[in-house]
Amino acid sequence: MLNIVIFGPPGAGKGTQAALLVEKYGLVHLSTGEMLRDEIKRGTALGEEVKQLMGAGHLVSDEIVFELLRGRLEESKTSKGFIFDGFPRTTKQAEMLDKAMADHDIQINLTIVLQLDDSTIIKRILHRAEVEGRADDANIDIIRTRIKNYNEQTAVVMDYYKAQNKLYTVDSENTIQDTFEHLSRIIAEM
Ligand code: ADP
Repeated sequence: MLNIVIFGPPGAGKGTQAALLVEKYGLVHLSTGEMLRDEIKRGTALGEEVKQLMGAGHLVSDEIVFELLRGRLEESKTSKGFIFDGFPRTTKQAEMLDKAMADHDIQINLTIVLQLDDSTIIKRILHRAEVEGRADDANIDIIRTRIKNYNEQTAVVMDYYKAQNKLYTVDSENTIQDTFEHLSRIIAEM
C-alpha cells in the first residue's frame, strides 16, 4: 500500500494534487474538509454542529473528524493506498491515525508539504471563493485565521513526520503540472 499525507496551507492545491495522485496511483482520496462540507450540505446533526466553527475558519474537534475518517478507512482498507488531504491537522490526529493504521498493519509511507507565500495563498483563495462559493473563502479575516491555525497547529504535525524521516517539501508557487511532476519524482525515488 502507498499511504500519503499531503500538507499545505489553505489554497495550496492539496485537493488538486490529491486528485492527480488518485488518477496516477489508484489511491483513495480522503479529504476531511470535503467530508465535513458534505455533512453540512446534507443537513445532518453533525453538519449543524460544525457549521459555525468551519465558517469562522476554526478547527473542528479531533474526535469528530476522526470518527468521520475512521469509517472511510474501514471501507477501503483493501485499496492500493490512501491520500490524506487536510488530515492530520493536529498531533493528536496524527497519533490517532497511526494507531488506526497499525491495527491494519499499515503505515504512512510519505508526507508532502506544499509550500507557498501568504500573498499567493490569499490570491488563490479569493479566486476560489468566486468559483466554488465556499463560506470560509470569501472573507480575508477568516482566511488569515486558517493560515494562523495552519502555522500554529499543523506545522507541529510536520515535525512529527520529519522525526520519522517521512517529510518532503514541494514548491507549489508554479503550475499544477510542475508541482505534480516534482511529487511524482519523490514517489518514484522512494
Ligand atoms: P483548507 O485547507 O482550504 O482550509 P479544508 O477543506 O481542508 O480546506 O478544510 C476546511 C475546514 O474544515 C477547516 O478550516 C476546518 O474548519 C475543517 N477541517 C477540515 N479538516 C480538519 C481536521 N483534520 N481537523 C479539524 N478541522 C478540520
